[in-house]
Amino acid sequence: MEISFAKKRALVTGAGKGIGRDTAKALVKGGASVIAVSRTQSDLDSLKAECPAIIPICVDLSNWEATEKALNAIGHVDLLVNNAAVAILKPFLEATQEDFDKSFDVNVKAAFHVAQIVAREMKVRGTGGSIVNISSQASQAAIEDHAVYCATKGALDMLTKVMALELGPHKIRVNSVHPTVVLTAMGRIKWEDPENAKYMISRIPLRKFAEVEDVVNAILFLLSNKSSMINGALLPVDGGFLAS
Ligand code: NDP
Repeated sequence: MEISFAKKRALVTGAGKGIGRDTAKALVKGGASVIAVSRTQSDLDSLKAECPAIIPICVDLSNWEATEKALNAIGHVDLLVNNAAVAILKPFLEATQEDFDKSFDVNVKAAFHVAQIVAREMKVRGTGGSIVNISSQASQAAIEDHAVYCATKGALDMLTKVMALELGPHKIRVNSVHPTVVLTAMGRIKWEDPENAKYMISRIPLRKFAEVEDVVNAILFLLSNKSSMINGALLPVDGGFLAS
């Protein structure tokens, strides 16, 4: 399936590492003009060295005002990937107010805010757009030590649905992808441990973790016009975990 993003402008959050970084690179390869937003300047520098056409923006998305300022002059965006997130994994009884606020600030509030900034402009332009929120299998299944993370992703799912409902009439589609474990920096926190990995893999019908490319392919599909009638969908990329 050939997908072209020629003449499209895309914004990817959390583009410094992992899934976001490869999504930004894939969009460049597909012909899009890409704005890469992340928190660590050195990650953006190395991304820019790999893909000189990328427009890097370094900002901590958990800071509402700084985000507003940083994205103030980005111009129009056709495609948004809300990918930045943190995973603070602790037993329910040990998670703190700070863990809770930090997680919701990035995983939910920043996605909400960036989508508002982008969708307002999309609405005015009237040419529509596609937004993909990166959720997780953890939005729909309880996983030990993931109370706060699961709660953020559950909240993000409802945001996806309401955005799909309200933005659909403006030709703006909003969907989410739900990966199982991917061994990125985030994935390694819990799942690099062989015992934990063995347990999780035993619960995935395909008996393997996802690769970054598996997730990127699903994101590209939902961004593209190949999914032009798909809106408000929550797409698992989980080897069947959520079906079992
Ligand atoms: P990584 O931790 O590898 O990368 C996350 C990226 O987001 C980093 O570049 C990070 O920057 C950036 N980021 C985090 N917080 C902020 C912030 N406040 N402001 C700006 N940028 C920020 O994660 P993954 O690639 O694994 O995860 C990508 C998405 O996929 C996330 O939404 C995650 O929840 C989801 N997911 C991941 C799974 C996995 O197993 N890996 C499974 C299911 C879902 P920095 O490093 O500088 O903080």
